[in-house]
This record gives sequence, structure tokens and C-alpha cells, in this order.
Amino acid sequence: LGAQTPNYLEGLNPEQRNAIESVDGPLLVLAGAGTGKTRVLTTRIAHILATRRARAGEILSVTFTNKAAREMKERIGKFVGGAIEGMPWLGTFHSIGARILRRHAELVGLKSDFTILDTDDQIRLLKQLLQAENVDEKRWPARQLAHVIDGWKNKGLQPSQLSAADAGVFADGKAVKIYQQYQARLKVLNAADFGDLLLEGIRLFKDNPTVLAEFHRRFKYILVDEYQDTNVAQYLWLRLLAQPNEHRETANVCVVGDDDQSIYGWRGAEVDNILRFEKDFPGAKVIRLERNYRSTSKILKAASHLIAHNEDRLGKTLQTDVGEEGEPIAVTSVWDSEEEARNIGEDIEQLQRQGHKLNSMAILVRASFQMREFEDRFITLGLNYRVIGGPRFYERKEIRDALAYLRIVTQPADDLAFERIVNVPKRGLGNATISMLHDAARAANIPLVQATRELVETDELKPKQRSTLRGLLSQFDEWAMRLQTLPHSEVAEAILDESGYTQMWQNDKSADAPGRLENLKELIRSMEEFETLGGFLEHISLVMDRDSGDADDAVSIMTLHAAKGLEFDTVFLPGWEEGLFPHQRALDESGKAGLEEERRLAYVGITRARKRAKLSLAQNRRIHGLWQSAIPSRFLDELPADVVEVKDTGSSYGGINYGGRDQATKFDRRDPFESVYETPGWQRAQRQHQSRGKDRGPTIEGELVARSVNPASSSRYKVGDKVLHLKFGEGTVAAVDGNKLSIDFPSVGRKKVLESFVQKP
Ligand code: ATP
Ligand code: MG
Repeated sequence: LGAQTPNYLEGLNPEQRNAIESVDGPLLVLAGAGTGKTRVLTTRIAHILATRRARAGEILSVTFTNKAAREMKERIGKFVGGAIEGMPWLGTFHSIGARILRRHAELVGLKSDFTILDTDDQIRLLKQLLQAENVDEKRWPARQLAHVIDGWKNKGLQPSQLSAADAGVFADGKAVKIYQQYQARLKVLNAADFGDLLLEGIRLFKDNPTVLAEFHRRFKYILVDEYQDTNVAQYLWLRLLAQPNEHRETANVCVVGDDDQSIYGWRGAEVDNILRFEKDFPGAKVIRLERNYRSTSKILKAASHLIAHNEDRLGKTLQTDVGEEGEPIAVTSVWDSEEEARNIGEDIEQLQRQGHKLNSMAILVRASFQMREFEDRFITLGLNYRVIGGPRFYERKEIRDALAYLRIVTQPADDLAFERIVNVPKRGLGNATISMLHDAARAANIPLVQATRELVETDELKPKQRSTLRGLLSQFDEWAMRLQTLPHSEVAEAILDESGYTQMWQNDKSADAPGRLENLKELIRSMEEFETLGGFLEHISLVMDRDSGDADDAVSIMTLHAAKGLEFDTVFLPGWEEGLFPHQRALDESGKAGLEEERRLAYVGITRARKRAKLSLAQNRRIHGLWQSAIPSRFLDELPADVVEVKDTGSSYGGINYGGRDQATKFDRRDPFESVYETPGWQRAQRQHQSRGKDRGPTIEGELVARSVNPASSSRYKVGDKVLHLKFGEGTVAAVDGNKLSIDFPSVGRKKVLESFVQKP
């Protein structure tokens, strides 16, 4: 580089430049919200490329969401002018973990095309294992066991590293054993769950020093955003990759984070990783950034004041650089969530009339169920919105069904997908038919689709079912063929139409059917971003965020958790009520630590705003027909009065009292319906919500079939043998064709049957 400042460094403050130019050796950037941490990371990559220290493919950069990865890629492209040479390793821990694991899958007992299981699949598998172990599923639900296992995986623990005692009484003391069986089963299914993407990666590195060395050679620089939210497994994985080695004396690893924004403790994230950094990477440099370039001074003051109520902090200074007082923080008390949605809708329309883009606005909710109200309202208003927040969207029934159709067409061995859609929409295939498919698949150790292909060539099935299944199979073939030549989104749309799936929802008169159709459309639309269907499906199994990425102007709706790292001119923060925010479950399960994490979440929420933060709270909430009265969140009391403006639009009953006597805003948090409100209402409501909210499609419980082996054995029977068939009775073998037999039955004449369905009399 010459004496001239390269343009990508222009406008950065000295600390930021220092962080960018300190490329060799471990570096920790510890700084508050909006101080340019992410910008430093991006610029650092540009700097490494511009100074030719490494090629793109030699940089590993971990972001928190796939969306962030995409944005980073774009930004770097701009810095270095045009396309980046080589493939940068830029993505979430999960996506990079998957990419590494696929390269060496066979070393951990998988094939490179392994399936990534989602929560639903995971739970179904665990259910079967619990049943097989005679564990009472009512007492020890599979969902809970999944949580326990995830917890172990987040800590980087393989079954072999646990003793039965680690599980305590859970699942009758069999949790570790089932964990072990579960891992073994995943291998048979050629599948990995999310936790495995790192856990098996760690095992891969530890057991195969040459593989690790390969990645040491490859990754010259490692960068991590949102470091405060790494869990132990991620930390171990990272440390293995970043450790000093024969290719470099020091670890060229740069992590950026903010302890005040650590919000994934409930998922195993450990803020302590920040503290450990200096210890584990000796000679680490620590740089602090103190200028906030995002928010007006009022917003920053409110956020800083709030977070100061936490005791457990490293402590940081934060000053605004925006040079604008800005608007006060608006706090609006409304009667109920419907009014809340109506109000926010009006605010948005007003801002729109003033020339603000919908893209510059976001609604950040504490719990995803809050979204529904806004979605409803915005549909009524004809206001464009998009729901960001990953798994939630893809966990919706209609989306999962649609994806199952796509999966089964591209991956015919995907039994879970087949099971999910074989009778959705209803095709008159009852349990008896399905279990016959299962029996045939299990007997031959082949995937369900293949077993179905065999069965429809026989007389085992009733003619109606047989022709239905035949029709379905030929549709699969037809769709697969079209995928060879036509755009996949177009084919996907046709699949949903021709399978009758779209029609099913069009015929459905329930209130949520129109929304589901919308979601299906959105799904198709989002596919257009991907070059291949395979790429899209891979993306789906990895996404932590959902965004259509379209040019359309739309308000974003997402959870506070999903909003990390993002920024918007206007941020709406609804539902600031005790029990909802702070969330009752966090308080119940983690006490003070839980409360502090909730407060950090509030800090994250407020600091997403550049110009406007608009908080609201409902005095009453109705969930599934049950009214709950609500108390203003304690966090409202913790905002400095001089930057807050309070409005009460709801009935005065239970409204907020604005004291304004001293520094803090005072809200009356006494409960207006004290007598009715004995148990924490939110807790109750939440639990109900959860149990009812399970939006799962019709599932067929059955043994999962191993997809790998299909031994082509010759028949045990020969012409003339007497055999017994379950349905047709006794008969005589007339011909043998692989695993199919033609048998003469005295009662029904000659029938073609599957060998596995007969026995010697
Ligand atoms: P968070 O903690 O919320 O993730 P962050 O520390 O990663 O925040 P960035 O998102 O990188 O902060 O930056 C916040 C905003 O400030 C961005 O719009 C960024 O472009 C801008 N910004 C950062 N540094 C500067 C600078 N030196 N001059 C002007 N704008 C800046
Ligand atoms: Mg950031």
C-alpha cells in the first residue's frame, strides 16, 4: 500500500482502524451496540484481501445469521470491487460446520450427502427410541429429551463423555443410553441434527489430525461476529481451528462482541467465552470501541440507562456520534394487543405518508406468537410486511408440507418426507396401507418410496390404494423430470397445485388458511433466489433467519432474538408487560440471571433503532380465548424519564401512571385484577400456547427405515412351494420374480405378492 489511505478505511475512527489493521495475532474487539464491530470485521476482510495477505478461500468468517453472511459478502464485494475471487468461507457456525463435515463425512460415519434433521424429525426419532425403551412418554416427553440432548451437544459432549448419572432421573435414568442410541440411529439414517454439525466436527478434528492440519493450512485468518453468543461447542470447534500450528505461530483469530448483548444463554451460550479469550489465546490484543454511529442520543441514553440495572457486566462506555438528540422514546399503553397492532399499523402508515420506507421499520416481539396479530392487521391494511425469524416460518405446517414434497422429489430415500405427505391432502390411504408400506420397507431394508414401487406391482394393496399410489409415484417421476429442465420455483408451484395441496388450503375455511396460502407463495418466491433446488433445500435446513430478500418495500416483523446485529430507522417494541417481557419462563427457570438476560434483550431491542424507538404495552391480553390482565414491564421503570414520552390510549383502567418525579419513569405495576390473577398469567398462557401451538402435520408413527442397504438376495421360495399369506391364506408358488412371488390361491386365484409378506405354513 502506498501512503494514501485506501478508500475502504476512510471515515473510520482510530480504534476501528487499529482493529482492522492489527491483522496478525489474536484480537478481541469488545464494544457496545452500534459501534461498528461488524463493520470492522467486514473491513478487516477487505483489508486482508487488498493487502494480499490471503485469498478469499483462506478466510473463515462466522456470522450469526445467513442473512448477515450474505450482507457481508456483498459489502466485501463492494470494497474490493466486484466479485470476490475464490469461495469465501462465510456463514453461520452451522453452515460452515456442515460444509466442513460434508467434506469428511465418512470419517464420522456419515455420507457426504447426509440429511440435516430439524426439530420435528429429531423428536419423532426420539419418540421411537423412548417407546422401544418402555419409557413413559407422558412423563418424559420426547421434546424435553431433545432439549436435554441439545444441551449436551451445545456443551460439546458426546454420549461417551457422559455417565448415566449425568442424566439423573430423566427418562427413568435412560437419557444417556437413549442419546447413544439416537446418535447410532442418525448414522444409519445418514442424518445429522444441528448440534452434530459442530459436535461431529469437533470429533473429526480431534480424531484426525491430518484433517485438522488441512484446515489449519487453509484458514489463514478467522473472524467471528457476535462472539458473546457462542456456546461451548462452538468455542471448542473454533479453538481447534484457530490454535497456533505449523502454519502460523499465533492464532490469527479476531472476535467481536458485546457482553451486554448476550441473549442466548438459554441455548447454552456462554459470555465467559469472552473472558476466556485472553487466557486461551495468549498475547491477545483487546480493543474497545466507544462511539456509537447508529442511534440518536435519546435512544442511546435510554438503552444505557436500562442496561445499567444489570449487575453482571464487564462495563463499557458508549457515546453517540450521530449528533442528534432525536425524538423521545414513545411508550404507549393500549387496551389489548389488537389495539396495539392497530396503533402500530397507523403509525406505520403515517410514517409512510411522510415518505419513510417500510424497509426502514421493524416490529420486534418478545415471543413469536405476538406476530400473528400484526400479520392479521397488516393483511387487512394491505401493508407489506415480512416475517423474519427463521425456524418459526419454516416450522409452519404448510411450509413443512411443501418442503416435504420438494424433498421427496429430489431425495427419494427421504422417508420422513414421504410419510409426511403421502396422505396430505387426504388420498384415502389409511393406517393399514401405510403400515403395509412400512412393513415392506423394513423387510427389504429399503426406503419407503422404493418399497411402494415394489408393492404397487403386486396384489397386496387394494386396487383403489394401489392406483392412488401408482398415480402418486408417477407424479414424483414427472416432477423430477421437469426439474431437469424447468426453473425449480415454477416446478415447485406446479407440484403444490397438481398434488392437490394448494387446493386443500383453498377449500379450508378456517381463519388461518389464507395466511398459509400466503406463506406457500412466499416460499415459492424465496426459492427464486437459489440456483438449484438442492441449494435451496440446503439453505432451508440451515436458515436461522427468513427473509425474502426481494426488492419489495416491507415492514419487518421478527423476534428480538432474531434482530441482533440489525438496524432500522424506526423500531416498534410491543408487549412490554411483566410475564411477557421480562418473560415469565426466563424468570422461573433462571431467576436473576434470567432477568438480566431479558434486560439485555431489551437493550438489544432499543439499540436496533437509529431514529425512533416506539414501545407499547397492552393492559389486557387474550390468548386462545382467555383474557389475561397485564402489568407494565419493570423495564419501563428503568428508562430515564427525561427521554420518554408516555401515551395512554386504552381504557384508563390499569393504565400507566407516569410519575416523572425523579430520574426514572414510574409505572404502576400493581395488578388491577389482583384477585383473578393468582398464578403468573403469562406462564399459564404461555404453556397453553406452547402445547396448542404445536403446528405439526399429520404424522405417521412408524419405524424409520434405513436408507442405505438393499441387499438383492435371491428368493427363499421356489415354484411349487406351499406358502401362507396373511390376507389370501394358503397357496402355491407359481412363479418367482426377484422378491415378488406369483401364487395360486384356491380362494382368490393367482396373485402377485411380496416375498416378505408370506411365510412357510
Ligand atoms: P451491533 O452491536 O448492534 O451488532 P455493531 O457494533 O456491529 O452493532 P455496526 O452494525 O457495524 O455496529 O455499525 C453500526 C452502524 O454504524 C452501521 O450503519 C455502520 O455502517 C455505521 N458505522 C460504523 N462505523 C462508522 C464510522 N466510522 N463512520 C460512520 N458510520 C459508521
Ligand atoms: Mg454487529
